[in-house]
Amino acid sequence: MAETPFLQARSISRSYGGAEASGVKRINLDIIPGKITAIIGQSGSGKSTLLRLFYGLLSPDEGVVEFKGERVWGPEEKLIPGHDAMKMVTQHTDDLNLFARVWDNVAAMLPSTNVKVKEEKTEQVLTQLNMMHLALKRVADLSGGEKQRVAIARAIITRPEVLLLDEPFNQVDTSFREGLQHDIRQIVKETGLTVIMVSHDPAEVLSMADELIVLKDGEIVETGHPKVLYHAPLNLYTAELLTNCNVLTVDEAKDCGIETEKQAVVIYPEWIRLNNVLKTNKWTVKEVLFKGFYEDLILENDGVLLRVVNDDSGKYNNGDIVGLKIKKWLEY
Ligand code: ADP
Ligand code: MG
Repeated sequence: MAETPFLQARSISRSYGGAEASGVKRINLDIIPGKITAIIGQSGSGKSTLLRLFYGLLSPDEGVVEFKGERVWGPEEKLIPGHDAMKMVTQHTDDLNLFARVWDNVAAMLPSTNVKVKEEKTEQVLTQLNMMHLALKRVADLSGGEKQRVAIARAIITRPEVLLLDEPFNQVDTSFREGLQHDIRQIVKETGLTVIMVSHDPAEVLSMADELIVLKDGEIVETGHPKVLYHAPLNLYTAELLTNCNVLTVDEAKDCGIETEKQAVVIYPEWIRLNNVLKTNKWTVKEVLFKGFYEDLILENDGVLLRVVNDDSGKYNNGDIVGLKIKKWLEY
């Protein structure tokens, strides 16, 4: 007997009327339980719409969303919209009580029937999210990143089976973000929580997700493990979402010694090595972009610009002449 799918979208479409490209179209998706699925796509590609359809904040015009074999009810059919086994966290932390302490904000999500259990669970979640030291602070006194942690703690303390995250880390600075990403991964590992997250930060999805879903104009254009999609994206669109790649026209590619029958050549900055200058291989350093332990060099030759990773920081200056070797490229 086939196992019942966990959370599944079966050919769902939802349009907002008006603009043709709005909403999502014919989405088929099987969410893997106990894993982190990340939905990526340009702004307006339908990421939030899809997340809201999974949660039941929107009803599909066509098709059906099923959780463990049962249809997810839309907002018209339910007093409190949103599936009971799921929780959603967005950038907006409006439902926090700013004047109450962190501890009380989180504990308030549990019934008061058993005070001891309530205390234990609150402490457990605050510990998992590394925020016991904030427990007695008022939410109003927290940073944006800390408020997001409170929102996530409130979402997971009720032990939902699915946590939906709609770009919740946008307002969080980088150093905080990495900690939070790590803690969420850890919780997924320890508790088997299923996470569906929307993000447009390549570093975030590549390091966090077990599965990537790429949306374009409301449709899925490819899915797969982050490593696979990074190294061999089927679409130029995916490559541009996941990397800061060089996209060359056929003529520009020719200048780099690459002949192609297709329309575009994609070269990731790390696929280019600097080597000997030859008469036919002369590039000028136009810009050196300091990135900490490495640099991005912008090189120019005959009007063609290339971004190159250089891990030998400080070696090159504007105006230097270098040669290069392209180790790998993709054609679209
Ligand atoms: P994303 O989250 O990827 O930025 P959304 O799912 O929010 O995209 O939106 C997808 C498309 O649907 C966009 O073109 C957007 O303008 C449109 N859209 C989203 N919400 C509404 C709405 N409430 N009314 C009309 N159009 C909407
Ligand atoms: Mg959105």
